Amino acid sequence: MSKVPALYLATGNLHKVEEIKRFFKKNAIDWELNSANKIGGMPNVVEDANTFSGNALLKATALWKQAEGRKAWVLADDSGIEVDALNGAPGILSARYAGNNCNDQENNQKLMRELKDVPIEKRTARYVCALVLIYCNSRKPVIFEKKCEGFMGTSPIGNNGFGYDPYFYPKGYDMTFGQIDADIKDQISHRAKALQDLFEWGRLR
Ligand code: IMP
Repeated sequence: MSKVPALYLATGNLHKVEEIKRFFKKNAIDWELNSANKIGGMPNVVEDANTFSGNALLKATALWKQAEGRKAWVLADDSGIEVDALNGAPGILSARYAGNNCNDQENNQKLMRELKDVPIEKRTARYVCALVLIYCNSRKPVIFEKKCEGFMGTSPIGNNGFGYDPYFYPKGYDMTFGQIDADIKDQISHRAKALQDLFEWGRLR
């Protein structure tokens, strides 16, 4: 693969930045990672697409425009959780499920209210992560989308991770993402699997 000039992360979410950086470090990937702050900060983006990849493309394009002239690679992550008993909600609205400017706790409280009469066997859910890469000046986005299946518990357990993690039990584990060691989340999560695909794509091109 030809040398990657610089990869800018089109997100202001520090948890995502941390997970992406951790993934690159653990896998000894020597791509240069930069936060959006290096090129003026993440611009405000109205996320009005109706898919994860559509919203990731909006974010990547906005930062790419800001980086023009720098031969930049820009990577955006749009992600969230889909709960089957709620017909896929919160889905693309995961970050603002309880309203604009709400926090993780308010989102989780709303989700638990919505699920209060749903028995455990019907609380199946999945995290989804869409990564969109715009590289150099090709303007040709590449999309990597992955899921992590599991179910929603009834009470928060664990302090690791962020967002809905204290309630989410990945399939095959009897611990929430809030309890699980970061090393395991970095292998099985929606984001880790999408990053793995991105890295493979970069290796082969
Ligand atoms: P976005 O910034 O619009 O992509 O929204 C992402 C939201 O989805 C976050 O604010 C979390 O609520 C949720 N989310 C995405 N990925 C994760 C994860 O790995 N753990 C917990 N919550 C997540």
